[in-house]
Amino acid sequence: MSEQNASQIPQSINEPNKHPERSRRKRSRRELLKTHFGFDSFRPNQEEIIESVLAGEHTLAIMPTGGGKSLCFQLPALALEGTAIVISPLIALMKDQVDALNANGIMASYYNSSQPSEAQEEVLNNLMIGQLQLLYVAPESLWNLTNYFQKTEISLIAVDEAHCISAWGHDFRPAYTQLSRLQDEFPQTPIIALTATADRATQDDIMKQLRIENGKRFVSSFDRPNLYMEVRPGQQRIQQVLQFLKDKENQSGIIYCLSRKSTEKVAEKLVAKGYKAKAYHAGIEAEERSRIQEDFVNDRIPIIVATIAFGMGIDKSNVRWVIHYNMPKNIEGYYQEIGRSGRDGLPAHGLMFYSFADVVQLRKFATGTATEAFQLAKLERMQQFAEALSCRRKALLNYFGEHVIQDCGNCDICKMPPKYFDGTVIAQKICSAVARLQEQEAMGMVIDVLRGSQNAQIFEKGYQNIKTFAAAKEIPWKDLQQYVIQLLNQGVLEVWFHEKGRLVLTPTAKQILFEGKKVRLADLTQPEAVALTKEKTPKKRKDLFEKLRTLRTKLAQEAGVPAYVVFSDASLEDME
Ligand code: ADP
Ligand code: MG
Repeated sequence: MSEQNASQIPQSINEPNKHPERSRRKRSRRELLKTHFGFDSFRPNQEEIIESVLAGEHTLAIMPTGGGKSLCFQLPALALEGTAIVISPLIALMKDQVDALNANGIMASYYNSSQPSEAQEEVLNNLMIGQLQLLYVAPESLWNLTNYFQKTEISLIAVDEAHCISAWGHDFRPAYTQLSRLQDEFPQTPIIALTATADRATQDDIMKQLRIENGKRFVSSFDRPNLYMEVRPGQQRIQQVLQFLKDKENQSGIIYCLSRKSTEKVAEKLVAKGYKAKAYHAGIEAEERSRIQEDFVNDRIPIIVATIAFGMGIDKSNVRWVIHYNMPKNIEGYYQEIGRSGRDGLPAHGLMFYSFADVVQLRKFATGTATEAFQLAKLERMQQFAEALSCRRKALLNYFGEHVIQDCGNCDICKMPPKYFDGTVIAQKICSAVARLQEQEAMGMVIDVLRGSQNAQIFEKGYQNIKTFAAAKEIPWKDLQQYVIQLLNQGVLEVWFHEKGRLVLTPTAKQILFEGKKVRLADLTQPEAVALTKEKTPKKRKDLFEKLRTLRTKLAQEAGVPAYVVFSDASLEDME
């Protein structure tokens, strides 16, 4: 050990005494954690986020569902003088959190428009006499209370489920947009925004809209290594589900369906086979819904067949599996839903069925909405994920801005990989085209440029003069498109949905371009590479694949989906 290193040791041992003030505060935080919440230690990032808030910094906390976001504002609310305002989108969520806080002896209430006026008055009284450590408010009610807030001390403002503020998020709420006014009303108060589901662009947008760009951002790892991910073609789903459930006796699980009707149909079929299953959707009476929820949480009903209305705010650690009976509409929703299993860290299984019919259905839902183009783009990305030919976890984590390059070994693709070849040169060409186009163009144009297409737009923009023009003219258009999608799924490229779907390079792309990093691509000449026709015999698979090749364009045109779609055999069954 060198002199220098040795001399550093006593220094670090002395560290706590050098800042007695700070260490006393630290100890008291641990004490708060223990006495008020009953926990012995912080979860990853909780302590850092809490420190940031206590230091008066605006803070954005991105943490997976179940990661412990609430504590990140609840504990500072106890450590600071005054009342913390917590903005939360769902009355049910507010009530659960307030009940839990009260049970721990913490002075917390909620305020929303559905309360009787006496209850509202009581809450405001408590606020005025300084008897509230936390006040949960619906975003719609917030601005009715500003007079009261001006007369009290506000310790911090927490914006829970902050993705709702961004039209680029997956669950936009108009009332959240008003939150950009928070800075005017409370210029001195630290704001903490929290969410589990925001891709990188949405994170930026949240900070911009809340005007906390200068704040600190903490992104926890989204990896849930115990969660096995699998995607299967969606033919004969009910049989597949029954098969799946065979060795899962008494395990808790959730089946997500697209429609209320199908939740009931699927539940019925399971009950007929002797399973204890219940349907759950927003059309069921509230009382019955909370009974079902309680029965599930307390292991009296192991299987819930639900629309996505089920699960938000449910705290159950031993859910062993989640099935998506249909493909979800975007990756945020998918991740959030599979993330409800395996919170105890034990092995869990996320199984998704995917078919062309699902895509058609989901496109219908999105069509005509205010954010149609955006939703369709996210749906397309979901579909690309479903058709991934490389590690699913890598695709998922990169989607949320974690640049993971290792394959996980715990997904269907890792277990049964397609045939790969060294695709480094192709990847370099694609990345270099994206770079030369200044990361301003979407997939279609990038491919046109690589193919050397002679279309009007190319000449208008002068792209025939850039260096990568026609650099991959020998590769068929749709194959090139598949390679671009593979690079998206490998976290080499990213789609900026809110900016016309332009393609952007990630740090991995830069390694490929400048540091000689190698890339594997799935071999598209092998029908097996499509990995979607797994359970058929090789002969049938090959026939189907050929049939698909010819049908592909026609079907895509009819349904108005992008032509790159590589249909599964399930799609054929759905369409025929
Ligand atoms: P999120 O809002 O991120 O989905 P929650 O705040 O609801 O997560 O917390 C999920 C669960 O984790 C809750 O049961 C909570 O009590 C528990 N939890 C939070 N922090 C800790 C901790 N430091 N130690 C143990 N359990 C924790
Ligand atoms: Mg939460």
